[in-house]
Amino acid sequence: MHIARRFFLVRSAALIATAALPIGPARGWAVTTMTAGDLRIDSVSDGHIEFPPDFAFSTIPESERTDLLRSLGIDPQAVVRSPLNVTLLRQGDRVVLFDVGSGPDFVPTAGKLAEALAAVDVAPEDVTDVVFTHGHPDHLWGLLDDFDEPLFANAALHMGQAEFDYWTDPATMDTIGEERQSFAAGAMRRLTVVGDRITRFEDGAEVLPGIRAVMTPGHTPGHMSFQVGTPESGLFVTGDFVTMLAGFARPDLGTATDHDPELAARTRAATLAQLADQGWTILGYHLPDGGIGRVRREGEAFTFESEV
Ligand SMILES: [Zn+2]
Repeated sequence: MHIARRFFLVRSAALIATAALPIGPARGWAVTTMTAGDLRIDSVSDGHIEFPPDFAFSTIPESERTDLLRSLGIDPQAVVRSPLNVTLLRQGDRVVLFDVGSGPDFVPTAGKLAEALAAVDVAPEDVTDVVFTHGHPDHLWGLLDDFDEPLFANAALHMGQAEFDYWTDPATMDTIGEERQSFAAGAMRRLTVVGDRITRFEDGAEVLPGIRAVMTPGHTPGHMSFQVGTPESGLFVTGDFVTMLAGFARPDLGTATDHDPELAARTRAATLAQLADQGWTILGYHLPDGGIGRVRREGEAFTFESEV
């Protein structure tokens, strides 16, 4: 297995045609690539989301917060920039995305996936399959483009049955809580547009050859993670069962973005233990440095060891 981080500068075609010198706007993309046999995995960035620290760390008891965050190298007062790492898998003729980022309607710091894909020579119409971890805006809303048309026009779409049922149930709007009602409306609209193109699967299903679904509920009711290949030569796509370094240090605490914090905490502790014991390389959607690393045990807790 080989892992490398590369940096791309992307300029528009017009600029390249006219500029003899590297001038004008260019956007930088860091891409972490992992290869194992004929499997190639890139962590491509959809941008990031910003959270006030009081929200992001609200579930850590105040008496412990400062010491815990400082021990992780995090400034407890600083705005939290949560990265958005979309997993791109290429093997033979298959081009698979795990989640599709935020699209144009969520926050201005996100929705950059199409540009990031261009940096690794993938056009949206090249994508053969999209596999969803869950229905939150930063994972699902990139399904539609600026004109509300499906961006990945040729892709087969795959979502866990329980997750699909939750976001397409009209009652969710009333039960999700006021602060997340826009999540419910946004998911319903997108899933309605692509409805009959979505194949649903259950926990444990082989969604595509070599890709197995692992239900990791709590962050959302039907949240799924995915095993790709084997622990020795493969990857565990986490989705949001763990979303920040504090979740490794204190997996017993819920997070502010979990729908069911207690269930999410139980899922987090059990799944981190399995990943540490089985030695999986993971790709975390919101983890630093492209999100590729390993889970290590540290007493009762865990650490994320970046592999870049
Ligand atoms: Zn997320």
